[in-house]
Amino acid sequence: MNLINVALDVPLMRCFSYSHSDILPIGTRVLVEFGKKPMVGFVWEINLDENTLDYDIQKIKPILQVFPEIITKDILDLVKFTTNYYHYPLGQTLFNAIPGLMRKPKILPVLDEVFSLTAIAQTNSPHLKSKKQQELYRVLTKSVLDKSAIKAIIGATYLKIIKAWQEKNILIATQTTVIPLLIQNKIKLNPEQQVIFDQISQNFQHYHPSVLYGITGSGKTEVYLQLIEQVIHNGAQALVLVPEINLTPQLLQRFKQRFPNVSMHILTSNVTDHERLSGYLGTQVGTKQIIIGTRLAVFTPFKHLGIIIVDEEHDQSFKQNDGLHYMARDLAVWRAKTIGIPIVLGSATPSLETLYNVKLNKYTLYKMGERAIENARLPIIKLIDLNVNPLIDGLTAIAACEIEKRLETQELSLVFINRRGYSPIVVCYECGWAGSCQNCSTNMVYHKGVARLKCHHCGWNMPVPKACPKCKNQYLHTIGQGTQKIEEGLATRFPNARIYRIDQDTTNTKVAWNELYQKIHKHEVDILVGTQMLAKGHDFHNLTLVVGLNIDSGLYSYDFRAPELLFTQLTQVAGRSGRGVKAGLVLLQTHYPKHELYQYLIRHDFGGFINYLFAQRKALQLPPYSFYVLLRASGHELYKVMEYLNKVFIFAEKFKPAGLVGIYPPVPAIIQRLKNRERGQILFYSQQREVLHGFLNQLTVEIPRIKPKYDISWILDVDPLEI
Ligand code: ADP
Ligand code: ZN
Ligand code: ZN
Repeated sequence: MNLINVALDVPLMRCFSYSHSDILPIGTRVLVEFGKKPMVGFVWEINLDENTLDYDIQKIKPILQVFPEIITKDILDLVKFTTNYYHYPLGQTLFNAIPGLMRKPKILPVLDEVFSLTAIAQTNSPHLKSKKQQELYRVLTKSVLDKSAIKAIIGATYLKIIKAWQEKNILIATQTTVIPLLIQNKIKLNPEQQVIFDQISQNFQHYHPSVLYGITGSGKTEVYLQLIEQVIHNGAQALVLVPEINLTPQLLQRFKQRFPNVSMHILTSNVTDHERLSGYLGTQVGTKQIIIGTRLAVFTPFKHLGIIIVDEEHDQSFKQNDGLHYMARDLAVWRAKTIGIPIVLGSATPSLETLYNVKLNKYTLYKMGERAIENARLPIIKLIDLNVNPLIDGLTAIAACEIEKRLETQELSLVFINRRGYSPIVVCYECGWAGSCQNCSTNMVYHKGVARLKCHHCGWNMPVPKACPKCKNQYLHTIGQGTQKIEEGLATRFPNARIYRIDQDTTNTKVAWNELYQKIHKHEVDILVGTQMLAKGHDFHNLTLVVGLNIDSGLYSYDFRAPELLFTQLTQVAGRSGRGVKAGLVLLQTHYPKHELYQYLIRHDFGGFINYLFAQRKALQLPPYSFYVLLRASGHELYKVMEYLNKVFIFAEKFKPAGLVGIYPPVPAIIQRLKNRERGQILFYSQQREVLHGFLNQLTVEIPRIKPKYDISWILDVDPLEI
């Protein structure tokens, strides 16, 4: 009998021992009994020394079932690193990393087979009478197909055809692409791109972290595509991480057009469980060659990973903000380093953390200066001083006049306002009532069409009251503006303009985006109004004017990262304009036109802005000059949460490495109540990462002993993005 330690999906920092007749490979999926329940687990280690067992050996239960799936060593190593670095329970970290279906205590469906032409059928085309079969043959000369793709061409009799073709030696079931790699629409790299391509491709066998810093349109994606082509040509696979919002049909189309017969797996939050599983297993055995996905894709197992690309590496959506608080970009770097392959971090506005690594000579910086399309120029950014330019419906006369001009010349304008809904605050001037959420300490946003007040934090909503709920006054007022109100104002001012609003409420699906692109292409839209959803990745034909409203809030925020975020966002929005041959104009309405941030922005001086931020962060010893970890706690009543945090604080103060780790005393969180939980936090910081993590290792063992009397839960947020 062998003792086998199994990782289970439970909130504890340890494994559990079971027995089995054979020694099972590490990573094997198994079924065990935990408590009285059957539970899926993964073999974590073989316990060779019975004496280390902290459990009565007589009570050890046997493993109930052994499944065929095995989690590969590189993923287990990644999980080990993740659980240590983020101080998150081992089993839960592992289960976070795998497809949902693998958690179920049942046998998994088999991998979708893929089919390709045999070598002989490839050269001698068989005699086929039916049109559909001819079409199938034509498609197969360019790509491998799975059953569903064959069904789409042939129809109901597809299984019969597959069988017949296999018997006639036309078709074989295959694991890998046997036909030569097809490359389409390839562009000749310009000299700048070529140098970067050469340097990175010379390092395919090494860990080579590089930062591709180039404005939108400078040709970064083209460099990625050609690097990936080379990697696939060498028989390896590529991982491309993108923010969810950037996984646009345009981007995917570009990959599909370039690599028409390469098998890809697209991993977004809305793929089905079955698609996710087959992508996961397909990548593991090597049939999928390119994986394009959001942060979760960093946990995909590869047979032979050759390169990692992180596009828009500055994007905050690479950080997961609930459960396991991991940063996919950082884990991707760790993976590249462990395997010894290049990783490319691309952005028009790289994050301060990444540029700090460049400063420390850990990463190589590649700059891309010019826009790839000849003659395309940087947009001209102008500030409109709101102290002297009054607003009408949120818009200054200068901005309105520029929009008017675009209507005449039939060019597209974009109005950017980072708040959806109609207006963010509904108040009663008589008694001071304001519509706030019953679950959160936030205001409810008024949404006009549906006539409801909605909380953007928890989703709770209610009909707009007919009168003030407190004093029955009939006249409620709205304060501030959201996309809906701006849209309404524009419609009144430009009655003939065709206006299109883009925010989570209108454009949350692929279909909606496609429809919009069609419309823009056919010149059926004059003005776009939208939130930051507009800012990223999209390429709008004929867009020559961007107007930014209500941008100032990021200047003076409690969060030290807010200015960086604001600068990045405005640079990204500005980058939407003038992507064709026409130069773009960007107008930013602000109360603080003299602010340094805006001055750097209008000069397109990102480098200068970064140095200004470095100086500020250094003076205050903020990240990246120090490391932060937040302990966030929540419960039903604030005083109990704070009482608990105080106990932890006093305890932590006692055994912290003096002079090396600092602790800020407990405070309520900025959004104090969220989804009906009161929240508080303690901040730990240190200039030495290892010392901080050593201390946290101790602390996480000790904290559970400070038993809260109430339903208080806590979590560590390592390298938090929001304070
Ligand atoms: P980025 O990813 O930096 O935004 P892209 O790679 O998307 O830039 O390039 C912007 C546009 O320029 C695209 O339409 C692309 O096809 C084109 N482009 C890129 N590289 C070249 C090149 N070397 N020659 C001509 N056009 C190019
Ligand atoms: Zn009132
Ligand atoms: Zn709420």
